[in-house]
Amino acid sequence: MKNLINKAMRNLVNIPGKGVGKRKILVIESDDWGSTRTRSRKDRDALEKAGFKFEGYPYYQFNRYDTLETNSDLEGLFEVLSNHKDIRGNSAVFTLVSNVANPNFERIKKNGYSEYLWEPLSDTLEKYGEKHNRVYALHKEGFAKKLIYPVFHGREHLNVQKWLRYLQQGNKSVLTEFEYGSCNYYLGIDNVPLGNMPAAFDLEFASDLEYQHSVIKSGLDEFERLWGFKSKYFVPPNGPYNSSLDKYLAESGVRYILGERVQNEPQGDGRFITRQHWIGNKNKQNLTYLNRFGFFEPSYIDNPIEHALLAVERAFRWNKPAILSSHRVNYCGYISPQNRDNGLHKLDEFLSRIKKRWSDVEFMTSIEVGDLLKRNNIDE
Ligand SMILES: [Zn+2]
Repeated sequence: MKNLINKAMRNLVNIPGKGVGKRKILVIESDDWGSTRTRSRKDRDALEKAGFKFEGYPYYQFNRYDTLETNSDLEGLFEVLSNHKDIRGNSAVFTLVSNVANPNFERIKKNGYSEYLWEPLSDTLEKYGEKHNRVYALHKEGFAKKLIYPVFHGREHLNVQKWLRYLQQGNKSVLTEFEYGSCNYYLGIDNVPLGNMPAAFDLEFASDLEYQHSVIKSGLDEFERLWGFKSKYFVPPNGPYNSSLDKYLAESGVRYILGERVQNEPQGDGRFITRQHWIGNKNKQNLTYLNRFGFFEPSYIDNPIEHALLAVERAFRWNKPAILSSHRVNYCGYISPQNRDNGLHKLDEFLSRIKKRWSDVEFMTSIEVGDLLKRNNIDE
């Protein structure tokens, strides 16, 4: 009975919102590119020795494998994506949900943790060395070949003010992480909870909001400097964000935003309000919401292909575009080449099975599907 109810629920959430008729559209949104997580295998081993955990819950796979992308990660990904063409002859494409900056650890340490300073992605890539030295050029190449399409995931993947307060308070876990080039773990030494550190726009105090507005503006400016065009889409890191940010997003050229179907919007100081967002709905700032309908996450989900195929089937049944998440961690090989090989192999198989099952599938970016929803304006 419980299974039946679960099955019904998984279908029901696909019903509200706008649709794309009978077209079979697959969108893969891949989060976290450009952001640091665990710096290297050596740093991970040192953190493990200091009491951080890297095995157990599925979420630990992020800290275990996720790191700044390398040349080989992107080359491997492009090879798989370009091998799969849709009915229109277009390659499979990742909507690359990207961060454009990271903390400047050296300068923050120098100022005694008194002030937060960030560095552009190009500086981080330089510090990480030769395995990352063509990442920026490869990003551009992938974009030119229509294998990736970048969108904004925030300036850095970090709740900056919460982090700075921890550093100033002398929090042992956060200071230890800092020494090894990490900043956004949920759990510290011996699993002490640190909170939702990667959620850049979670609001610990209402007074943090003004700073968050400046993060949106400077982050979107940096995005434009990096890519040469404005981001049209914003995916809030880990979900939470206060809707007063919408005004700054819209002013900077953003048109679409990823909405959770039931969003707990943080108001600061422990208060939340609940909002519902359905695909195709607009908010007061004229931003249109997109929703995700499933995930393809081979690094931390069992039977990832079967899981994703079911989600695609449900989305198509209700005339929705199948928008899936597939985080960078699945394609990271710097810490573990096996992790990347597994992710790429499964992605290749997944795309083959998609085409076999739905020969009329169309690969699209989030922007293309957003524009289509606006044009169609079909209520399902
Ligand atoms: Zn993310």
